[in-house]
Amino acid sequence: MTLVINEVQKQFGNHKAVDGVTLTVEKGEMFGMLGANGAGKTTTFRMILGLLDPTGGSVTWNGERLSYKRTHLVGYLPEERGLYPKLTVKDQLIYLGRLKGMRKNEILTAMREWLERFSVPEYENQKIEELSKGNQQKIQFIAAVLHRPELLILDEPFSGLDPVNSDMLKEAVRSLKQEGTTIVFSSHEMANVEALCEDLIMLKRGKAVLQGNLKEIKRSYGIKSVKVRADYELDFLRSISGVTELQKTQDGGILQVEDAEVAKAVFAALSEKGYVQKFEVDEPSLHEIFIDKVGGDGDE
Ligand code: ATP
Repeated sequence: MTLVINEVQKQFGNHKAVDGVTLTVEKGEMFGMLGANGAGKTTTFRMILGLLDPTGGSVTWNGERLSYKRTHLVGYLPEERGLYPKLTVKDQLIYLGRLKGMRKNEILTAMREWLERFSVPEYENQKIEELSKGNQQKIQFIAAVLHRPELLILDEPFSGLDPVNSDMLKEAVRSLKQEGTTIVFSSHEMANVEALCEDLIMLKRGKAVLQGNLKEIKRSYGIKSVKVRADYELDFLRSISGVTELQKTQDGGILQVEDAEVAKAVFAALSEKGYVQKFEVDEPSLHEIFIDKVGGDGDE
């Protein structure tokens, strides 16, 4: 079971919202879709789900296009949450579960399991409108996973959640992955992407600007940050070729260096000068990579 997106395109009028995206997500993988606002994430999700027809390229799940007929295979947490405020949680989930072809008692069992897991069993008979936004989102998530989909698409699942709920949702997503669910999600919070996904694509104006395995991306990115603690003046490090920045701290400094070889040269220079209390080379955070690759490139 594999999600295969091949050179997919979507054009709205003159505007190419998605412009030749290619990616593969294997069964049980967790895949991150990143990009500034308007980069084309939601449009890509809608094409995966068969809600929008691509103007070029193809999207298949297990070799076939997804469409309404195969809706039970997928779960979708849309960016615009869409629950009926006047319904109780139970009636809402029964309604949505039925659309996915579930029987009522199956729905109730799965619903109670999930409510228990999210520590809110008492919500069963409450109306959606009586719940806070964050709690409505938990219900929307339950609606997306109730029928145990093979492929789960989560558009900004963590937005608006407090840290406790955000962790609870992360745990739920991890356990679904462990059970073999294939998960594609978008997030503007890079820390969540770093915590969850193995592979990712970073979109800018509908095109991939970075793509691949998260660890490899970080390793091969080049620029490293070096933390130094030493009780002598560090200005001499500026003259080493490849040191692009030196920011002094109370007990040393933080340097940006072009690659690992430069970090080694910094260490050698420090050792020659005197005792080094601390020397730490860090890979850049995904946040730093995102800023570098995408910049402030929203479409607002
Ligand atoms: P965000 O992070 O803000 O949710 P996104 O990456 O999900 O952004 P999309 O919603 O896919 O971005 O939008 C990509 C581009 O396509 C935007 O420029 C948007 O205005 C445009 N677009 C999306 N849907 C339509 C539509 N139905 N008609 C015309 N243009 C559209």
